[in-house]
Amino acid sequence: MNQLLIQQYRQLGISEEVYAFGAAVEETLSERFAAIDAVAEYNQLKVLQAMQEHRVSAECFSATSGYGYNDLGRETLEKVYAACFKGEDALVRPQITCGTHALALALMSNLRPGDELLSPVGKPYDTLEEVIGIRPSKGSLAEYGVTYRQVDLLPDGEFDYEGIRNAVTPKTKLVTIQRSKGYAPRRTLSVARIGELIAFIKGIRPDVICMVDNCYGEFVEEREPLEAGADMIVGSLIKNPGGGLAPVGGYIVGKKECVENAAYRLTSPGLGKEVGASLGILQSFYQGLFLAPVVTAGALKGAVFAANIYEKLGFDVIPDGSESRHDIIQAISFHNPDALIAFCEGIQAAAPVDSYVTPEPWAMPGYDSDVIMAAGAFVQGSSIELSADGPLKPPYAVYFQGGLTWYHAKTGILKTLQKLKERNLVPPGVI
Ligand SMILES: *Cc1c(COP(=O)(O)O)cnc(C)c1O
Repeated sequence: MNQLLIQQYRQLGISEEVYAFGAAVEETLSERFAAIDAVAEYNQLKVLQAMQEHRVSAECFSATSGYGYNDLGRETLEKVYAACFKGEDALVRPQITCGTHALALALMSNLRPGDELLSPVGKPYDTLEEVIGIRPSKGSLAEYGVTYRQVDLLPDGEFDYEGIRNAVTPKTKLVTIQRSKGYAPRRTLSVARIGELIAFIKGIRPDVICMVDNCYGEFVEEREPLEAGADMIVGSLIKNPGGGLAPVGGYIVGKKECVENAAYRLTSPGLGKEVGASLGILQSFYQGLFLAPVVTAGALKGAVFAANIYEKLGFDVIPDGSESRHDIIQAISFHNPDALIAFCEGIQAAAPVDSYVTPEPWAMPGYDSDVIMAAGAFVQGSSIELSADGPLKPPYAVYFQGGLTWYHAKTGILKTLQKLKERNLVPPGVI
């Protein structure tokens, strides 16, 4: 064993036993890690090609102010995103404040009063409940006369094709498909499965807009949902595609008309994509996108490592230690609030920023129970950085994600294990 490394871990509060337990688990993962690296290599080339094809230049990093007319950097970045994710057009803006905003924008701009929105994959992400009006909220789609239907996944996680067929009506205008599990105890959808679902829906009504909430899924596979038939994908730049460098922002990529509608809603009818000063932020968007495949790979390795560690200790993990990955989120159900809290404290204590603070559960806007969050991030709330959160309700599941580098993700996970062990929350005698 590498004594220098062990000593350094010890200085960070990770005991030799915890380190050795992690090292033994890591040794079993070399094939998984090689497969993750192979996807990252492919995606790195994809991003590079998109940047070269659209002639990204130093001029693209210049700041514009005011209206931001003819912003070369903004226009080029949107072409790069469209090329990379295989869409006709893209809207990639710092004025899109977060993932929820991007999704709300995509929905509100492509739906009109009298239209119906369908989710064929069960309940959408918590914050979208208020966007849609599932939980009554000011300004929701429901207030504007857009109705909503939902078809849950079957108990085995498969699509309820029969139910979906019955739910697609002449009113159905847009279908929203969430790729990642979010806070739901279901499996994340692979791009291939999303493709099957879209083909089924288009078989019933070819004109229905199929939107994919792509949060946490970018660069996890070689293909993205637009390549599997989606009309529009939506996500946040403080998750995978921002590569940890984008300090804010969201994107919508897809069919020209869908993106255009979103642009007219984001700015104003008549103005659309033509305005929106970039204020000098674009270099971080470009550079973050460039790094995103490798950053995502590091986060994925962390997720696989955590799954294997906690599975070995007898906890419920989704996905399990061996199954294929379609997003960077790892869920661990502790069935014990103390373990959930200890885990989050471990992640916080391992952070480069705010490592000395103790996370506490709080009533976060948009969520229906108290949530504990651990994040010592360079960008506030960034969840491509090592972070963990979980609602304080059964099954006391933590949703863990991110890590700008694999080594940091690994340290964070070992630190969680250390915290659980110190509080006798792991089975005795295993570590
Ligand atoms: C993070 C996330 C969102 C919302 O993004 P925010 O940036 O937190 O507003 C929506 N859907 C899914 C699946 C997400 O993971």
